[in-house]
Amino acid sequence: MNEKEICSICGEGRVTDHVDQVEAEYNGHKGNVPLHYQLCDACMSDSAGAVQMRANKRGMIAFRKQVDGLLSGAEILALRKRYALNQQQAARLFGGGPVAFSKYENDDVAHSEAMDKLLRLVLRSESVFWELVEQEGMTAELRHAMAHKDLAQEPKSAQAPASPRDSNELRAKLAERQVTPADVAAAVDWARSQAPSA
Ligand SMILES: [Zn+2]
Repeated sequence: MNEKEICSICGEGRVTDHVDQVEAEYNGHKGNVPLHYQLCDACMSDSAGAVQMRANKRGMIAFRKQVDGLLSGAEILALRKRYALNQQQAARLFGGGPVAFSKYENDDVAHSEAMDKLLRLVLRSESVFWELVEQEGMTAELRHAMAHKDLAQEPKSAQAPASPRDSNELRAKLAERQVTPADVAAAVDWARSQAPSA
């Protein structure tokens, strides 16, 4: 796989992959984005093939999402894993074509502001997630999926109050999934809201 390609410009040298951080500007905001390219060890030409160009496009879209305040591809992936959804189920539940979530998660396209608001709402509240699941007629198939997941909730009938120990365990589990501290706080608030108030 790492066998070096022959330079397409001089036909003699071998090219190696490089990544530089370059400054980009979008809507008045500046930031660094990765620039992928290949450098020839003979003629020193730099070039970008299809692989590098796709990576560069993804880097730029990720930067624009950040400026626009949209969830990153990695955050959308984490949300989908948290609720044990595959990409097709996510598209059926939230809207979008069969490859929409693949594109969101890889930063191939930026999702809409409306989609972002829906995803953030579901990220904040698991009860909202299940209401949406019910609305879309997907309760049976998704309850099954969650039941096979280590983060699956205890049955509602358990009525176990959220103790500090439970909260810490939840934090640890969420941290393993690389969810942000804000997400953890929202999840813990939700867990506490489910506990008996007395
Ligand atoms: Zn060359």
